[in-house]
Amino acid sequence: MVTAKDVWKSFGHNDVLKGINLQVQKGEVMTLLGPSGSGKSTFLRLINHLDTVSAGRITVDGDLVGYREQAGALHELRPQVIARMRSEVGMVFQQFNLFPHMTALQNIMEAPVGVKKEPKSHVKARAEALLERVGLSEKRNAYPSSLSGGQQQRIAIARALAMEPKLMLFDEPTSALDPELVGEVLDVMQDLAASGMTMIVVTHEMGFAREVADSVVFMDGGVVVESGKPSDVLLNPQEERTQAFLSKVL
Ligand code: ADP
Ligand code: MG
Repeated sequence: MVTAKDVWKSFGHNDVLKGINLQVQKGEVMTLLGPSGSGKSTFLRLINHLDTVSAGRITVDGDLVGYREQAGALHELRPQVIARMRSEVGMVFQQFNLFPHMTALQNIMEAPVGVKKEPKSHVKARAEALLERVGLSEKRNAYPSSLSGGQQQRIAIARALAMEPKLMLFDEPTSALDPELVGEVLDVMQDLAASGMTMIVVTHEMGFAREVADSVVFMDGGVVVESGKPSDVLLNPQEERTQAFLSKVL
């Protein structure tokens, strides 16, 4: 579903990603770990073409992200085409970014109706099913300010799913939550993984990485230091940098 081939990203003279090679199979959950500043968020943004790669290639479901290739040269795609590709990838951030003036139901319906121009009645049924799926049917008419952080993040996940994405990216989805609210969000993510969704999850929740992920990637300084099965990377890390990081977060 996702391949990254020798992906580089620089901001001015700052090389933030230095040759990332990764693969995520369809239906697989990959967790991405690493210290602050190692380039995790930047990598997720590149998958969605929210930033452009400096070198290398990323494909999603076989399509080159952001570009078309013609006679060996890359041409950036038109904004409408980029927007359509982006709509197939759901993204959930640390900050939930719900629309404050819309109810939970309206937040979930906004993109399919506003962006995809799907019929309202159709989208409403899907949104209600999603509310049920994240356990918040009774909050359908609630505004974000009246919801807990955990509830808001579950609505944000439902909102992303309303676009029927083929890939979901999570960037530290539980980092802004009070500890007692983390579990309800991870439960929703675990259900989603069990349903077969392909997911890349940046998280420091080691329990989730151990129990839900198919693969774990440890990044530091813009490179993949170590990757593999959770049981190998988390329980028996080979690299000193991985060992040092894990000893701090476990
Ligand atoms: P992580 O998510 O692993 O904490 P980031 O991908 O957010 O790391 O950041 C990696 C590095 O890239 C940091 O040094 C950060 O300052 C730099 N960076 C990220 N985005 C930008 C940007 N838009 N402009 C300049 N530097 C950036
Ligand atoms: Mg980050």
